[in-house]
Amino acid sequence: MTAVQIFDRLAMIKSDDVLQIRAQVQAVSKQVPVLYLVAIVNTIALAVTHWSYSPDLLVLYVPLLICAVALVRAVVWIRTRNLPLNHKASVKRLRMTVVTTFILALTTTFWAMGLYDTGNALTQSHVTFYIVVTVFGIAVCLIHIPASAVLLTLIVPVPFSLFLLTIDEPVFPVIGFNLLLVSLIVLFIVFINYRHFIELVEAKKSLKEEQREIQKLSNENLRLANHDSLTHIPNRRYFFSKIDDRLLGKVQGAKCFAVGLLDLDGFKAVNDVYGHPTGDKLLIDVANRLLDADEAVTLARLGGDEFGLIVDGNRSKEELVALGNRLCGALARPFSISEFCVRISATIGFATFPDIASTSNTLIERADYALYFAKKSSRGYAVVFSQEHETQIKEIRRLEQILRSADLDEEMSLVYQPIVDVGSSRTMGLEALARWNSAELGFVSPSAFVRAAETSGVITRLTMVLLKKALKAAAEWPEDVFLSFNLSPLDLSSPTAVLNLVSLVERSGVRPDRIAFEVTETALMQDFDNSVEALNLLKAMGSKVALDDFGSGYSSLSYVQKLPLDRIKVDRAFINGIESSPASRAIVKTILDLCRNLEVNCVVEGVETDRQLAVLTEIGCDTVQGYYYSRPLKEKDVLEFLAASNPAAEIASLTA
Ligand code: C2E
Ligand code: CA
Ligand code: CA
Repeated sequence: MTAVQIFDRLAMIKSDDVLQIRAQVQAVSKQVPVLYLVAIVNTIALAVTHWSYSPDLLVLYVPLLICAVALVRAVVWIRTRNLPLNHKASVKRLRMTVVTTFILALTTTFWAMGLYDTGNALTQSHVTFYIVVTVFGIAVCLIHIPASAVLLTLIVPVPFSLFLLTIDEPVFPVIGFNLLLVSLIVLFIVFINYRHFIELVEAKKSLKEEQREIQKLSNENLRLANHDSLTHIPNRRYFFSKIDDRLLGKVQGAKCFAVGLLDLDGFKAVNDVYGHPTGDKLLIDVANRLLDADEAVTLARLGGDEFGLIVDGNRSKEELVALGNRLCGALARPFSISEFCVRISATIGFATFPDIASTSNTLIERADYALYFAKKSSRGYAVVFSQEHETQIKEIRRLEQILRSADLDEEMSLVYQPIVDVGSSRTMGLEALARWNSAELGFVSPSAFVRAAETSGVITRLTMVLLKKALKAAAEWPEDVFLSFNLSPLDLSSPTAVLNLVSLVERSGVRPDRIAFEVTETALMQDFDNSVEALNLLKAMGSKVALDDFGSGYSSLSYVQKLPLDRIKVDRAFINGIESSPASRAIVKTILDLCRNLEVNCVVEGVETDRQLAVLTEIGCDTVQGYYYSRPLKEKDVLEFLAASNPAAEIASLTA
């Protein structure tokens, strides 16, 4: 143990306890300078009252020494009273205070005794008064530096009271006894107070510790609340809060920015074919590739296979498209996950602030629209929301509004397109296709109004109106001709909606097995399990299910196997140019083979020419639909068409 350590031990200075040392210095720093000044004044006063009785040593030199030391210490404390002391300086300050107290106390004792001997009864009472008031006062004020308070009491009043006890005059021993008693009480108070002080500091310490713990926890909570646990990149919540920060002007250099929505194409298929663990790894790799693309982009995972981007700065449309395409390009390279080599692609929609949208909702809505548009027209690339999209949206909103108040029964009608058996040229069935002759707008294309009906919530009502009309028409057709009827994803979204369709069919008098419901792959993908359940309800009634537009979306073979399908309709896109495109021909042949293996009927849509038909028959296609055989027919023309194409049907209907 070093000398300093021994000193600290004796002086009760815990030099390694930062908080306690700081608390001690803080507790006394305001009163110590005043104390020294009081000591100086009282010392001068005592010297003055003894001026004519005592020698120069006692009334001049010793008081001067006491005053000089006190003054120096007072100045030291005053100069630093508003400065934050570091730990080392604080320890030094405490040590110096103890040493100074020791020197001053010893000097004062000898000085007081000397004055006592040389004065008269009056001056002696001044000495006693000085000891009681000055020394005890100082001791109490130094209570937070217990070593100083104790030293002062032990060195000055205690010996002085013992000294008084030895004097023959009876008053002095009594005063001495009183003084001793008060000294003991002061010592007792110093110790009690010091204990409380330590407890207080300890309590403060544990409070600080607790606060630190709480802060740590809340930091962790904040991190968890803002991060995606799978990819370890920010999440949806963080993304929206960062957009809000920019809108509120909290981010420097972000007066203009773009919000992007990135959607993976083909992710669901990876999940289904290779399993969820592979899907998870793919998402992690996707996040890392996007981060590595090293663009000044804020990236977040919004959920599923959707990511959000914030691009700061005033970038032109071309620059944004280039940036987006770089990101899409990074994701188009194959991923090697476990033993698999997986390929996906990504599409991005951007909306810019402040020119295109000024709130977070409209930014997201428009980025989403740009994404939707990109998926339809340039899958695998980035699209920035533009005025052209704005016009389209306005058009959709207008359509929605008109559709909501339209008299559906009156304005909606159906046309029917034959589905033909190539070998016999017989019409197996007819697909009902909706037509809207709007009182306000005239004829509106089905693709446009079907989408508007979906977004406005009119679709289930529209489906019921159309199905009723289709069933009424089909009731007039020969029994061996089926009706193919298109459903929207929303028609399958709730069991109630499906049960309404079922009860409509049951009340129609048309045999349920004469009806095939067409659903698209994208519709099923939105909520696979729910859709399968809905299709099973339709199948339970006896109806058939056809997968429409096969090949136009992200066709996943695993889906096809899991679905209760009776028919697959090959999208028209493959037929366009099949005569000259070996690739299209190969794809259609693969689909035909697949259908044969699954024992599912296959219809090829959009056949317009005899050359197309020739290629199709060559690769084994036996059922087609398209302008080559017939354009969609008005209801009144169907029976006539059937009479021509199905001679047996003609007989059946004529004899009925
Ligand atoms: P879809 O179900 O794929 O219907 C086939 C579309 O292709 C029809 O267009 C039809 O007229 C057209 N088409 C048929 N053969 C040929 C051909 O040889 N060449 C060309 N170029 N086109 C041909 P339409 O009637 O305009 O319908 C468009 C889409 O609107 C339909 O596509 C379907 O998705 C939707 N739709 C039509 N009616 C309904 C309906 O009642 N309910 C629902 N939910 N959707 C419907
Ligand atoms: Ca269809
Ligand atoms: Ca189709």
